[in-house]
Amino acid sequence: SNIAKLNGYLERFRKNGIQNLIGGESRAALSGKTFETVSPTDKSVICQVSHGGAADIDAAAQAAKDAFPAWRDMPALQRKKILIRIAEGIEARAEEIAFCECWDTGQALRFMSKAALRGAENFRYFADQVTAARDGKNLQSPTLMNVTTRVPIGPVGVITPWNTPFMLSTWKIAPALASGCTVVHKPAELSPLTARILAEIAHEAGLPAGVWNLVNGFGEEAGKRLTEHPAIKAIAFVGESRTGSLITKQGADTLKRMHLELGGKNPVVVFDDADLDRALDAVIFMIYSINGERCTSSSRLLVQDSIAEEFQAKLVERVNNIRVGHPLDPKTEVGPLVAQEHFDKVTSYFEIAKQDGATIAAGGEVVGDEGYFVRPTLFTNANNKMRIAQEEIFGPVLTAITFETEEEALEMANDTQYGLTGYVWTNDLSRALRFTNHLEAGMIWVNSENVRHLPTPFGGVKASGIGRDGGDWSFDFYMEQKHIGFAL
Ligand code: NAD
Repeated sequence: SNIAKLNGYLERFRKNGIQNLIGGESRAALSGKTFETVSPTDKSVICQVSHGGAADIDAAAQAAKDAFPAWRDMPALQRKKILIRIAEGIEARAEEIAFCECWDTGQALRFMSKAALRGAENFRYFADQVTAARDGKNLQSPTLMNVTTRVPIGPVGVITPWNTPFMLSTWKIAPALASGCTVVHKPAELSPLTARILAEIAHEAGLPAGVWNLVNGFGEEAGKRLTEHPAIKAIAFVGESRTGSLITKQGADTLKRMHLELGGKNPVVVFDDADLDRALDAVIFMIYSINGERCTSSSRLLVQDSIAEEFQAKLVERVNNIRVGHPLDPKTEVGPLVAQEHFDKVTSYFEIAKQDGATIAAGGEVVGDEGYFVRPTLFTNANNKMRIAQEEIFGPVLTAITFETEEEALEMANDTQYGLTGYVWTNDLSRALRFTNHLEAGMIWVNSENVRHLPTPFGGVKASGIGRDGGDWSFDFYMEQKHIGFAL
């Protein structure tokens, strides 16, 4: 019956394709061109998508520019109401969003049903902040009454990846709208379905035309133009580190403000004094949920050698029991990888691991040939210099490395170009404090998997990104600080 429901949800896409949404109107790409989006489950074409290019971005940026003054000046309470209606709209269509997301990306329903609701939460959270977002401070000096305030920066570009496209889009667009910015969104070409649903929900919620514009297309054309457009004042980008570096260059001529959320090769460090059952659950969850296609996944396990054998044996047993299957089967834990190119990339590491001299302790195989399915994989007997320990594989693939001492663990944990998240398992408080103090990562959890608390800062260091969002950090990005001094 899930398949029947899915077919019901897809009918409109199959019939009409996906059009861009510019200035409140559905529009085909100006070139008339379309591209196909394909389901990774059976490689079937889902629908045609408007292939937007530079001219479509220009139209969308102009619409965002025109809509900006009225949206900026709309009373905060009125903007808040619209954002809450968007949250309600997402909740009302949560199943449709989850089903389309699963079919488009290959993510399993058990995780994506929550992702849709997380999207609604993002709108509710930032709706609640709208009224205070521009509050300033009075900083009185002997001769001046100094007032600081925050004003929205202007039209912004949002560029998102394919892995959890719905949730990530809400995470950027909700605070942008709450700030009073207008938006041009360029979603990933591999998974365009739910971005369209989201933009429709926003318009149905009463968002004025032009405040939120959607242009589908490829990074090198539409994405590039968005990062170069003079009317666009900032770019919120989520994607690969090398793309982050490219768009930084592209945005240089117009002095774009950039927030970059990039890749990771995040360590989970398990010391022998930890609660090993809980650590095992978390290790499994943080790499084998969401297909391992998750920036915050712990893809490097550093485990203390005194417990390594036992821990890895349990891990192998658990990994071999993970259910791979149809993304809409509620029992499925790992669905197909998003697309051919990514499937080729992930599976290439099975050979690389062998060449590097590591052991494939579990998985290392593809499953069938109907879709892009792979077995959850564990590499052991690895060291931190190997490619499987250094490169972001972005699939359900874990590399396990053993260590002897805390110093050695820290050195290995930091020996990577990335620095997004880190996870530390120990019951020794002093060690946890010492270790986290020196661990190079934007976000660290001790004795916990990744649990996102919306007011906390989200972002990475080193090649994992620049800037933070979450809570007030989001407003700092989408707004300008303004100082006004009044003579006393
Ligand atoms: P990607 O960098 O290939 O693409 C991301 C987006 O950028 C897409 O919309 C793409 O069309 C666009 N793009 C590509 N080239 C561009 C260019 N020259 N100019 C402008 N836009 C361009 O990334 P992906 O493969 O879609 O996503 C996977 C990556 O995203 C992984 O590295 C993952 O770690 C990262 N990611 C990071 C976070 C985070 O919060 N740090 C979250 C999710 C995913």
